[in-house]
Amino acid sequence: MNRQVLRGAKVLLNHRFLEKDVAVEDGTIVAIGNDLQGDVTNISGYLVPGFIDEHIHGIFGNDSMRGEEDILGMSERLAMHGVTSFLPTTMTEGVEKTRNAICGIAKAMKEYSGAQVLGVHMEGPFVSPKALGAQNGDCVLAPTMENYKALVGENEAIVRLMTLAPEMEGAEEMTKYLVANGVTVSAGHTAATYEQMEDATFWGLSQGTHLFNCMSPLHHRAPGAVGASLTLPAIAPQVISDGVHLHPAAVKLACIANPNTILITDAMEAADMADGQYHLGGTDVYVVNGAARLKEGNLAGSTLTMDRAVRNVMRFAGISLEEAVSMATERVADSLHLEKKGRIRVGNDADLTLLDDELQVKMTMVSGKTVYHAK
Ligand SMILES: [Zn+2]
Repeated sequence: MNRQVLRGAKVLLNHRFLEKDVAVEDGTIVAIGNDLQGDVTNISGYLVPGFIDEHIHGIFGNDSMRGEEDILGMSERLAMHGVTSFLPTTMTEGVEKTRNAICGIAKAMKEYSGAQVLGVHMEGPFVSPKALGAQNGDCVLAPTMENYKALVGENEAIVRLMTLAPEMEGAEEMTKYLVANGVTVSAGHTAATYEQMEDATFWGLSQGTHLFNCMSPLHHRAPGAVGASLTLPAIAPQVISDGVHLHPAAVKLACIANPNTILITDAMEAADMADGQYHLGGTDVYVVNGAARLKEGNLAGSTLTMDRAVRNVMRFAGISLEEAVSMATERVADSLHLEKKGRIRVGNDADLTLLDDELQVKMTMVSGKTVYHAK
């Protein structure tokens, strides 16, 4: 196998940019240094670890509940935005529908041609009827082992992230079981108190799903799930930095309060599409000026892309490119226990994104293969 050497870019290493060669062979980063031997490709700009989107429902007319073809469509499109791996995210839907969606994701994991399909993020159905947002209340289930096994079927091993409401009866046992099986558990669509959230961290819960959205708000005498997600070091809060789901100052607050804060898009099929009428799960969604809402007005996913999320968070929170990139890469990898992703490091997967001086995506590489090149 040929050894490819990427030369000329500023490379994100140890949280700073250094002009180094990066050598890639057999899908892996094999060397970092000066004047490395191999087939040299001259590049320029910023070479960063590929973005990881752990919470995304769709993009460019594709929806993760619709099966394999749509997941493959997402994979291809996401590469254009510098995303090298992602977790297609299921909605709170019926058992049959969820099971089929997970089946589609399992198939796509073997066939993707763009961003790597890492597995499943289940957003529900173990959520609180008090904090549904765009989730279907008719399909909410109690977090029992029986329900879980029915939902995941034979594909349990590909579940990597679970959003649940920790205050539900049975959530403790479910969380402990999932964590013991390598699944990251996130509190979301929840009315939990601060105390319930803290207890859940002792069971192994370690994220907060779309911070501020669909979770018990911060009150100074009752800090709720928001207060817990902002202040507990055990939690990595997810933020949607689109300027619609959160005021820029709320994004800034999260960045200041919790150094684990990570970027997600929560995008749905209207991302990269014109305004109009779309679907999320089985529900109609109306997109006006890029904001996706149900008929009732609830926000229903976003039209954000990860490259834009990175640029936005720099502006919203006044942070550096180095830090913004870490919010979309190493912090996500750490929280999902992806040891070979999220950093440019010898031995890691060659998942790389090249940004130009305006921080637009120029090139995306997944496992050493160039899957996107800007014209
Ligand atoms: Zn979502």
